[in-house]
Amino acid sequence: MNSADIATIKSLLATPQNIVIIPHKNPDGDAIGSCLGLSKFLDCLGQNSTVVAPNDYPKFLKWIPGNEEILNFERENSQSKRLIAEATLIFTLDFNHLSRTGQMESYLEAASADFIMIDHHQQPSDYARVTYSDVSMSSTCEMVYNFIDSLDGVSKISKDIATCLYVGIMTDTGSFKYASTTSQTHRVAAQLIDKGAENMQIHQQVFDNNSPARLHLLGVALNNLVILEKYKTAYITMSQDELDKHNYSKGDTEGFVNYGLTLDGIIFAVIFIENKEEGIIKISFRSIGDFSANEFAREHFNGGGHTNAAGGRSDFNMEETTERFIELLKNYQKQLNS
Ligand code: 5GP
Ligand code: MN
Repeated sequence: MNSADIATIKSLLATPQNIVIIPHKNPDGDAIGSCLGLSKFLDCLGQNSTVVAPNDYPKFLKWIPGNEEILNFERENSQSKRLIAEATLIFTLDFNHLSRTGQMESYLEAASADFIMIDHHQQPSDYARVTYSDVSMSSTCEMVYNFIDSLDGVSKISKDIATCLYVGIMTDTGSFKYASTTSQTHRVAAQLIDKGAENMQIHQQVFDNNSPARLHLLGVALNNLVILEKYKTAYITMSQDELDKHNYSKGDTEGFVNYGLTLDGIIFAVIFIENKEEGIIKISFRSIGDFSANEFAREHFNGGGHTNAAGGRSDFNMEETTERFIELLKNYQKQLNS
């Protein structure tokens, strides 16, 4: 953050504000961790803040400190709308385009609050008074740590704040293995452990809580894996039927897409997940190296994200979507094999 932005934020926080903090739709560990970590920090400053999530999030995040204080815009709709309308300051975390909040978008556009964006995705849009955007960051949680540091607040980081921020850094770096993991990321994580984050326990709570049904669903996913050697690509399909048969609940398919990348020589992995209720196929893209999953998702599947991890959607059915995908790959054969 530059010094002008820090000064603006300091002056905004010098008086009591009604603060709402918002993650993206289908929030992940980084979105929930950063929102709760920031909320708890703002509370330490004597501010009053509420996290309002656009919709529900996976069970494996429901133990995080402050989890029970999060409002769900779909469930607590009128209360959420009132808070947004009455807010004087709105933080948007881990996304950079208001459309990423789904149904909340129009209420955010109508809000009179000042916006502060903290985010590490590419191509931020221009809606915030302060835009703290840095695509080189491992996670929004690492950025919230920097934000706290800029306000000379590191001494205020409690065990709960440290736990929230550790969750997002850990999940967004694939447990500290993705290219975005820097020595500074490790320094921040080390600080958070010193402040009380119990790293082993956090890892277990997020990753070692499978139900038998979820492991069986993973079996189905791996069985459905298609390898396109020519394009160094592997993809997985999951139909609504397969999800239903395995008692699907939110978050159950999290991480499945990464299995494609564990294949020797594969640099592009994709999962197509049918969502009958929304009438779409939700897609996750992952890549290794220079091949931009973000550009691919943005150009062809109404999505976006980071170079090596992006998401998008298709309004066609599964068969049409995968056919179209394979057709598109032909135009990328050179890039995928360079
Ligand atoms: P995931 O595949 O885990 O859902 O998301 C991977 C990355 O892409 C995340 O950083 C996420 O925020 C972003 N992403 C996922 N879905 C979408 C989408 O529909 N639109 C945009 N712009 N980004 C997405
Ligand atoms: Mn993130």
